[in-house]
Amino acid sequence: MPAPHHPTPPQTTPPQTTPLHLTPRRPFAPEALDNCAAALATGSLSSINGRFTAELETGFAALHGARHGIATSSGTAAIHTAIAALDLPPGTEVVLPPITDAGSVTPLLVQGLVPVFCDVDDHLAMTPEAIEAVITPRTGAIMVVHLFGGVSDVRAIRALADLHGLKLVEDCAQAHATQLGEFHVGTFGDIGMFSLQQSKHLTSGDGGLCLTNDDALAARMRLFRDKGWDRSATGARSYPVLGLNYRITELQSAVAVAGLPGLPAVVARRRQAAARLDAALSTMPGITTWSPPPAAEASYWCYPFFVPAALRDEFGRRLLAAGVPVTPGYIGAPIFECLVATADIHAPVPHTRDALSRLIVFWLHEHHTDDDLDAVAGAIGAIARDLEGQA
Ligand SMILES: *Cc1c(COP(=O)(O)O)cnc(C)c1O
Repeated sequence: MPAPHHPTPPQTTPPQTTPLHLTPRRPFAPEALDNCAAALATGSLSSINGRFTAELETGFAALHGARHGIATSSGTAAIHTAIAALDLPPGTEVVLPPITDAGSVTPLLVQGLVPVFCDVDDHLAMTPEAIEAVITPRTGAIMVVHLFGGVSDVRAIRALADLHGLKLVEDCAQAHATQLGEFHVGTFGDIGMFSLQQSKHLTSGDGGLCLTNDDALAARMRLFRDKGWDRSATGARSYPVLGLNYRITELQSAVAVAGLPGLPAVVARRRQAAARLDAALSTMPGITTWSPPPAAEASYWCYPFFVPAALRDEFGRRLLAAGVPVTPGYIGAPIFECLVATADIHAPVPHTRDALSRLIVFWLHEHHTDDDLDAVAGAIGAIARDLEGQA
């Protein structure tokens, strides 16, 4: 019987390196399960009179040194609730940066406000100078976004807002438990808004929070997220303000409350991890690490770095093939070009365009081990050397 023909494997294929298997994130504290069981056992998952929502609001506010915490169903809902509470007349301009989530912009649009986009600097932050350049007689508020956990200079921006009689709100969806000097971001503005979406430092899958020291704003926000319903009024129902149902549920709060004590450690570990990557990447050809705004230490929602624009997408493809979770360009274009409702906006934002064209975001988290980080740095270095000279 003739021996079966065994084709020889092709010798020209380059050896396939197996993709990395990085340690997955485990974002929920073990206590979350007991809390959820306790919430279910009460027979009510409504946040109205719910124990866990009250604990979340009090605990999150206390951690950040704020007087009031108002929990919502998402970060976008928190931003909408904050913007509505400012009660700005329709047509009022609100200055914000063009690198952010859609959730920063859409609440302005549905409130009939006009987003005005202000370019960012080399640290990906808005500066008081750049904000001042776009202030007009129609400006009513500034929205700072502490992008990637980098801390914009909210002290100086607060002074600018006060000088011009403007409201200031802080989108802290990517900057939980992040300090500027002795105070936390989210307490410099009239209101600070946070997200508890799956990828955020503290998460319950979805959810959000507003912080404020202003009693009147807090009261307005509590009404807005509850359909405008004044539950303290006796007799028939009364709805003294226009509102939506943006209530969080007890299950979300039960999970978030369990994670709250560990939040500072999450930030601390992400800082350590980012420092390790910075050290490794700083000597690689063609790679520029992100230099966060110097006002304070960043809390690293993710780990951004820069490559030559011509190589960004190829770099991203190769990293994904190597098992490194990245997004080349983050949102890819200024946010007003990403949203159908703002497609008619043409703001001159050259620094933003340049930064996005070179940006790669690595989805760093607190459970990446030093070995994981060294492997990621190794993958980045190998691609950088391979692509060296091609830009
Ligand atoms: C996540 C995020 C939001 C929106 O939060 P959701 O909970 O996803 O609605 C808003 N702004 C920024 C900067 C974000 O990162």
